[in-house]
Amino acid sequence: MLPLLDQTIDQLQEWFAERTLPRYRAAQVWGWLFEKRASQFDEMTDLSKALRGRLAEEFQIWTTRVEAHPIAADGTEKLLLGLGDGNRIECVLLRDGKQNRTVCISTQVGCAMGCVFCASGLDGVARNLTTGEILEELLHLARLLPAEERINHIVVMGMGEPLANLDRLLPALAIASSPQGLGISARRITISTVGIPKAIRRLADENHQYHLAVSLHAPDDELRSRLVPTNRKVGIAAILEAADYYFEKTGRRPTYEYVLLGGLNDQPEQAHKLASLLAGRPALINVIPYNPVAGLPYETPPSFATARFVQILEQAGLTIAVRYRKGDRIDAACGQLRRSHA
Ligand code: SF4
Repeated sequence: MLPLLDQTIDQLQEWFAERTLPRYRAAQVWGWLFEKRASQFDEMTDLSKALRGRLAEEFQIWTTRVEAHPIAADGTEKLLLGLGDGNRIECVLLRDGKQNRTVCISTQVGCAMGCVFCASGLDGVARNLTTGEILEELLHLARLLPAEERINHIVVMGMGEPLANLDRLLPALAIASSPQGLGISARRITISTVGIPKAIRRLADENHQYHLAVSLHAPDDELRSRLVPTNRKVGIAAILEAADYYFEKTGRRPTYEYVLLGGLNDQPEQAHKLASLLAGRPALINVIPYNPVAGLPYETPPSFATARFVQILEQAGLTIAVRYRKGDRIDAACGQLRRSHA
């Protein structure tokens, strides 16, 4: 059977046309999945029973299944999804106030980037997710919400390096942002990357309106190459140039993510270096105090070190926000839940 969500709407229309059925049926099926959150063809009651049967014979809506679903006291929900080949991935629903419903999705099984403080990269990368699997993450998460609530932000910040799987991610985001899909504005979709200049330039040249978040984590190549090993081949300068180019082409100001690791990258001289690196650039900075991961030796910085770091950046005139990880006690850091179930 074909995974339904790996079909584009055009391909699905073609499927109907080849059977001398109206092409608009494809939009109806899509509407049932994304708008009405149906989970099986039998729920699609404006299609005839015979047609529902034919669809069910040829297409599989779900190739993934929920294997674990922990919920944190703050309302954050995490899903561990089992894939058809036995691999597992994670995705998260975050609630902020009455309005904001943000989901964080994965793009690969594991990750090849090897950031030393991250559970997702500990075992390397197994494979890219398909477009359908990425969309299934969104649908599973949407189904956690009551009917009157909608996902309104997507952050592509879960397991994997999104820019290493752009060919499958972009079609999924195109559906997520289209009116026939989830209808989430591209400007409310954030793609996070450790920095692959060529892929950032591709996003810029294709003039996507997605928000770009670059995970920097260090103000110089020596330290960054220790924390994010792929930096050895790339270097901060090339990443910043590509991010500047993204701004020039799209008008969208990049965010720089800086996970603050106690005693390692949270010192005043590092804050000063970061300030001079980003001075004059279009940049928002997110400082994220580290969430400890079992088995890894990194620590949350003391709150005075976070405050000092932030103050130095603010005094340099940079726009900065401190973000705290949500979902405490549900293995909130990316990759932790998957490891605890391995
Ligand atoms: S932090 Fe992101 S890029 Fe780095 S290893 Fe983890 S999942 Fe990969």
